[in-house]
Amino acid sequence: MTNRRSLLIGGLAAPLAGCAGRGASPAARVVVIGGGFAGASAAGTLRQLAPEVDVTLIEPNPVYTACPFSNLVIAGERRLDAQQFSYQNLKAAGINLVQQRATDVDPATRQVVLENRQVIAYDKLIMAPGIDFQWTIPGLSAGNADRMPHAWRAGAQTVLLRDQLRGMRPGGTFVMSIPEAPYRCPPGPYERASLIAHYLKQHNPKAKVLLLDGKDQFSKMSLFRAAWTTLYGDMVEWQGAADGARVVEVDAGNRTLHTDFESVSADVASVIPPQRAAAIAERAGVADASGWCPIEPRTFASMLQDNVHVIGDAAIANAMPKSAFAANAQAKLCALQVVKALNSETPVTSKLINTCYSLAAPDYGISVAGVYAPGDRAWLDVEGAGGVSPLDADIAVRRAEAGYAEDWFTTITREVFG
Ligand SMILES: Cc1cc2nc3c(=O)[nH]c(=O)nc-3n(C[C@H](O)[C@H](O)[C@H](O)COP(=O)(O)OP(=O)(O)OC[C@H]3O[C@@H](n4cnc5c(N)ncnc54)[C@H](O)[C@@H]3O)c2cc1C
Repeated sequence: MTNRRSLLIGGLAAPLAGCAGRGASPAARVVVIGGGFAGASAAGTLRQLAPEVDVTLIEPNPVYTACPFSNLVIAGERRLDAQQFSYQNLKAAGINLVQQRATDVDPATRQVVLENRQVIAYDKLIMAPGIDFQWTIPGLSAGNADRMPHAWRAGAQTVLLRDQLRGMRPGGTFVMSIPEAPYRCPPGPYERASLIAHYLKQHNPKAKVLLLDGKDQFSKMSLFRAAWTTLYGDMVEWQGAADGARVVEVDAGNRTLHTDFESVSADVASVIPPQRAAAIAERAGVADASGWCPIEPRTFASMLQDNVHVIGDAAIANAMPKSAFAANAQAKLCALQVVKALNSETPVTSKLINTCYSLAAPDYGISVAGVYAPGDRAWLDVEGAGGVSPLDADIAVRRAEAGYAEDWFTTITREVFG
């Protein structure tokens, strides 16, 4: 009982009395698509809550490369392998690991088709495939993205952007294009700008960081802007949609970005494309016209297909940001609701918590925390709960928050991947 209870404390506010495991059919098959923060958490939680359930995790990559803290890799402050986690502990826990890409889902027959044409049947399916990019900016494509690395999926692009910054000419300009919401990790671009400025301040002090944003407000805006002035003087310049800064076209070959207002030449550029749920969500019929997946808030059950749940970045969780913290919290609640459904029990109603830490420098942390409640149609902010780091905190507080950020990453990756 202790283990089950403590397992859920991180993001789930409801107690677990009376849940899980009892009486679930020994033959019940739960399939999870995607082994990221959401899917791996869901698979592990299912295993712990209901060992009698047959849990299969479908993930094409043998190793998961985490995005949180990957901006430190770009800034040369961390190695990529510190971001990488194997699935072996999940396998050792008794989860069937299938190293394949799911290419189709048929909710009518409750079957998942894999790239190797194998078919896997399920009683309940949890989809956690994360995001795909929308190549809607004229001039930008999957084929030329290496010229302007988004690095919004950690791995090769992260290292590429790091190396392009290392090779940037003295006094050069780094330009980043930031999409309109929703996209994964709302504060991520601003953390990236900060850590790149930190790198440039040491290695290329006359360089500039220019942010071209598709919106006028962003997460922890006052805190980031104050930190940029304090830490980097006038090195970082942010322009929003009202300044005409939305990028409408790029010339990847020449590293030129065109906005409504002007054309900007970059020495190094990072263009973060607009996003949607990963392609398999559309194949499964769980994504709507927005490209994201509508869910019944309390259980994460798809609004569009029976016996399918969607969690993590792919889901429309309204007030909850698309973060690893939220993905992990959603996964634990969703796993519990799936076990309850298998046991023909009533779902619980639980609030969820999210905290997003960001680094304005490796030893300068800021955070925003929220508490969310499931309404009839949407996840809603709990007014008055949560909060944001104070604007006037001293450097000791910022240093402490950077430490909390690291502790959070260590804890969550240990919990999810073992
Ligand atoms: C630069 C950056 C910094 C970030 N920093 C933070 C942070 O500090 N804190 C925080 O909480 N969040 C942070 N995030 C956000 C966080 O990374 C995401 O919100 C989180 O990874 C979402 O988890 P997920 O499981 O939904 O998706 P993912 O982690 O993307 O996992 C999806 C998995 O599904 C698999 N998959 C996709 N399609 C298929 C298919 N067809 N078949 C089988 N498998 C499939 C993929 O291979 C992948 O492993 C950051 C993101 C970025 C880009």
